[in-house]
Amino acid sequence: MKIFVVGGAGYIGSVCAELLLNEGHEVAIFDNLSEGHRGAVDLRTHFIEGELADRGEIEAAISNHRPDAVMHFAANALVGESMQNPSKYFRNNICNGLNLLDAMVAAGIPRIVFSSTCAIFGPPDGVPIDETAPTRPINPYGESKLAFEKILRWYDEIHGVKFVCLRYFNAAGASEKFGEDHRPETHLIPAVLQAALGERPNVEIYGTDYDTPDGTCIRDYIHILDLAQAHILALGAANSGCYNLGTGGGSSVREVIESCRTITGLTINAIEKPRRPGDPPRLIASSDKIKKDLGWQPQFQSLDAIVESAWRWHQKFPRGYED
Ligand code: UDP
Repeated sequence: MKIFVVGGAGYIGSVCAELLLNEGHEVAIFDNLSEGHRGAVDLRTHFIEGELADRGEIEAAISNHRPDAVMHFAANALVGESMQNPSKYFRNNICNGLNLLDAMVAAGIPRIVFSSTCAIFGPPDGVPIDETAPTRPINPYGESKLAFEKILRWYDEIHGVKFVCLRYFNAAGASEKFGEDHRPETHLIPAVLQAALGERPNVEIYGTDYDTPDGTCIRDYIHILDLAQAHILALGAANSGCYNLGTGGGSSVREVIESCRTITGLTINAIEKPRRPGDPPRLIASSDKIKKDLGWQPQFQSLDAIVESAWRWHQKFPRGYED
């Protein structure tokens, strides 16, 4: 198939593009490089540096390329930042996404796979969280992704654009070529590995008074290659729908730091800080629906295996894509 990957120079988009290419698909990447990196663009793709905010640019790119499907990764994705600058999140994640959908409708592109998030749920009544859980986001990031999921339902009903929303829990790890490099880096695993490499003096633990066994937040860390595999399966989905994607296991912030100490064998200083606004205490996925409907099966079940792949990448590229 011909796949048009919007945001394909970012962390998750780059690995999905790599896997698509490995499986014989033709890939074009559209990215403004605001968060992504030129070095994360697989050389086998056709790269278009463009602005999703510019309706004309995305319309021209889609109508020139005429893909069989679109994968949409281009969004801002930081809970903390969204609590400080909600406008950025609503504008980029909703308005710019609409430009993409309208370009697809104009060109008659029938299918989209959308990067959604567990942040649409907010603090759950219980875990694991399945697709029937109430959606009560507690930050503008989650709210913006939930709004776009709703928009997709209407574009399917009115324009016939089939969609699959994949609600990632915490994407982590790396392929051999591509890994996580955000500037600034706010995500836990790369931040801890930067502390191991001496790229930062310590890692901060945001909140130690949560109602969890060790007082720190619990997240479901899912390997990026397992996420990428889910996107490929989503291309063949018979029906539109939304799927939660995680391993079904949870690790606390302290457990992640401990795993990084074990895998790297290095000293990692951790200091305790107050809670980060917008963080729910515990997010763990039930992924039974995608396993049943699309036959998805994660290959990386242990946190150590995920951290190990991230560590391999960070050792190879200690300064990320700058190298
Ligand atoms: N976290 C932390 N220190 C950091 C970065 C993150 O304690 O330097 C915590 C954060 O508060 C959350 C968890 O680690 O509970 C995962 O955060 P991350 O930003 O990686 O992903 P998110 O869950 O926000 O998508």
